[in-house]
Amino acid sequence: MATSYVPLLTNHFGQFNQTKAADLYPDTDFDGLNVLERLWVSWYVWIGNPVIATGLMSFLLHEVVYFGRCIPWMIIDRIPYFRQWKLQPEKVPTKAQMWKCTKAVLFSHFTIELPQIWGFHPLAEYFGLATHQVPFPSWKLMAIQIAMFFVFEDMFHYFAHRALHYGPLYKHIHKMHHEYAAPFGLAAEYAHPLEVLILGTGTIGGPLLYCLARPDLHIFTVYVWVTLRLFQAVDAHSGYDFPWSLQHIIPFWSGADHHDFHHMAFVNNYSTSFRWWDHMLGTDNKYRAYKKRVAAARPEERVALEKKELEKVEREGLKAERLAERGAGKGGMEGVPKGKLE
Ligand SMILES: [Zn+2]
Ligand SMILES: [Zn+2]
Repeated sequence: MATSYVPLLTNHFGQFNQTKAADLYPDTDFDGLNVLERLWVSWYVWIGNPVIATGLMSFLLHEVVYFGRCIPWMIIDRIPYFRQWKLQPEKVPTKAQMWKCTKAVLFSHFTIELPQIWGFHPLAEYFGLATHQVPFPSWKLMAIQIAMFFVFEDMFHYFAHRALHYGPLYKHIHKMHHEYAAPFGLAAEYAHPLEVLILGTGTIGGPLLYCLARPDLHIFTVYVWVTLRLFQAVDAHSGYDFPWSLQHIIPFWSGADHHDFHHMAFVNNYSTSFRWWDHMLGTDNKYRAYKKRVAAARPEERVALEKKELEKVEREGLKAERLAERGAGKGGMEGVPKGKLE
């Protein structure tokens, strides 16, 4: 009995199975589960302790997805053919820069995230988030919930990110993330541990708030959401704008083109996934003016003009950064004439 209902992994761990499966899954119909749900059960039964099982899974998911998603970008950076789509083609990350980012990201994961993760399971249970339970919710419900988390995170990130550009916060926290004017995949989470904590609230806060309103959220859905959010963050920092990139299919998707400009210009483009907050609050005025000028140029002049424009944007960006550091406090719009498309 103990080995028959979770047959995929636990045949090897029969003893754990006998002691824990009955406690965790008293009335579960295992015959009706799909492969993923059976693996899920196997994991919880194998670990034998739901707090450790959830914590370990959350941590591993973050590491595997983040670094896994960076690998293709590291390969693309080493192939000159792809340079034609690089937003700042002269700035390919060096091995030393990539190694520096990897070490800093691992440091913040181990010092900030790992201790928190052990508290996450009790917190999740308190908020009513399903963890070890099976079956999973329907794909339709998951899609609606994930769409809501995207919208919430984007809004949270917009305002928190703008606050991080305020003088003292910038100088002591957000400056680290702006070390690279030309970002690359691994630089997505290259940030002060406090920034990881602050901006991470937007990712986890949505699901926790949702739980206050409805009792039908499963941690599996949260994992799918975190995976998509990590893809978004790494891709936005990739430095490449391909003709097939998502922003060319979904017009309000931010993508690398939008965020690269933030790193280069220092001001403008504060949101993560969508363009609407920057658009509504006018914090994309510089970006849109630049795009407009490049689009209006004659085709034979476009490449040269783009290069010249980007050099200007970067020069002004450095000036704006110095202003912010001195505490100019214009809410992340230092050096940008108000409401003017210059
Ligand atoms: Zn910033
Ligand atoms: Zn960034």
